[in-house]
Amino acid sequence: MDADDGKPVLQSKNVCVVGGGMAGLAAARELRREGHAVTVMEQSGDVGGQWLYDPSTDADDPLGAAVPVRMPSSIYACLRLISPREAMGFSDFQFVPMDGDDRDPRRFPGHREVHCYLREFCDAFGLMDVVRLKTRVLRVAAVAAPMTSTARQWAVRSVRQLGNGDGAADEVEEVFDAVVVATGHYSQPMLPSGIQGMDEWSRRQLHSHSYRTPEPFRGEAVVVVGCGDSGKDIALDLCRVAREVHLAANASSMEEATTPAISKILANHGDVLRLHPRISRLHAEGRVEFADGSSVVADSVIYCTGFGYSFPFLDTGGAVSVEDEVVSPLFEHVFPPSLAPSLSFVGVPRKILVPWYFETQAKWVAQVLSGRRVLPPEEEMLRAVEEHYRAREAAGVPRKLTHNIGNVEPLKMYEFGEKYCDFAPLEEWKKELILSSILSMKDDAETFRDLADDDSENVQKGLRAWGSLAARPQAG
Ligand SMILES: Cc1cc2nc3c(=O)[nH]c(=O)nc-3n(C[C@H](O)[C@H](O)[C@H](O)COP(=O)(O)OP(=O)(O)OC[C@H]3O[C@@H](n4cnc5c(N)ncnc54)[C@H](O)[C@@H]3O)c2cc1C
Repeated sequence: MDADDGKPVLQSKNVCVVGGGMAGLAAARELRREGHAVTVMEQSGDVGGQWLYDPSTDADDPLGAAVPVRMPSSIYACLRLISPREAMGFSDFQFVPMDGDDRDPRRFPGHREVHCYLREFCDAFGLMDVVRLKTRVLRVAAVAAPMTSTARQWAVRSVRQLGNGDGAADEVEEVFDAVVVATGHYSQPMLPSGIQGMDEWSRRQLHSHSYRTPEPFRGEAVVVVGCGDSGKDIALDLCRVAREVHLAANASSMEEATTPAISKILANHGDVLRLHPRISRLHAEGRVEFADGSSVVADSVIYCTGFGYSFPFLDTGGAVSVEDEVVSPLFEHVFPPSLAPSLSFVGVPRKILVPWYFETQAKWVAQVLSGRRVLPPEEEMLRAVEEHYRAREAAGVPRKLTHNIGNVEPLKMYEFGEKYCDFAPLEEWKKELILSSILSMKDDAETFRDLADDDSENVQKGLRAWGSLAARPQAG
């Protein structure tokens, strides 16, 4: 309904945000700013999602086969950011270095610094008032028989650990006007499908989700599967204590496997580290065979093969599904057309700048729910989703990269906020800094974090202004 001045009368909704990681916190802040009542349900004992490091792992399930996995965080002790802190802050709450012995002022700080920052963000915007910790969402389903899509409501069943030491839990069901799913996609391990003999292998095998420190592998011969960011990090971490580290690339030949970054790592650690093409077979007695016919005997295999989408609590009656790493259908990776706007997802895209991109998605969701913005009709949203799939296919992009925006269509990532919710564009110097960091990482994955002293004049100018933000701007 419009007020007399022609502007829409904004509505306040009762919204449940599932997940208290970076995406969920961005959502909570934007929803509150827009005047909605918010409840964030987070299964862990603190906010921060992946950045809440947990030294323990699920010893009964090192491959992370349980759905959902019991430990949400997949980060390991030595993890440092691959994205520069100057570009990794909320738009109005920059990730500036803080004083204190326990703080990490580096451009690419360790994981703990990110967690500290997220806690400060919560404090600055009073978000802990709306976060329920140790509260796992068990089921989200539409309340029966909605008359119209705008009247649809959602029943959220959750269980809260009571913290009295006896494992007691309190299960409740509540009704919300809208649900924002912000459960991330770095918890549920993906395992390679093409390796024969994984079931027969009698020695240790685990997913990187269950890797924390190199110590348990001291003196061992370890095969690390996958040369992505985690694979490289973990292989280098292991080089400090393992007898042999064998890095198996997802490539059929050594030529294909040998990137500039890998060559540099091999040159520095050739005494312990070897590169191989992909594994073809694991043999029961401990032999690992590679695609080129070579083999090694190993004590452990660590799969650094990524993570998949999983929403085991979400019952949409088939309206939203996950197949081949595509959450479908989602208009602009956010709204399932037939359930919009009361159901939305913040944080589905991959290879994006966070939390900046989460903010843009969250602001759009908040404004659509309030009525400030209107979504296209359902059929039009569906057509747009199909068009996205077709365009990606025509460009030869594999379907499993459907939600990969940043390194397929970076311009779209940067334009999204302006297009949908008048979000201020990202500063040009930050874009430049991100690009130069990516290029440095591709060139030298081991040392790029500590050699960041070749900023362009444009970046240096931006940094000077950024550096004067020591007092962060603040809640509003
Ligand atoms: C090893 C590793 C390194 C990374 N390095 C970088 C980096 O350098 N730079 C970068 O930008 N990004 C990095 N990332 C990606 C990082 O995860 C994202 O930056 C960001 O933290 C994702 O936030 P999120 O809120 O979407 O998901 P998450 O951080 O995973 O948060 C999701 C939250 O939802 C909660 N949750 C899930 N299911 C339920 C449920 N049923 N009920 C209640 N709560 C639930 C979880 O407990 C969790 O707290 C890395 C990720 C990993 C795993």
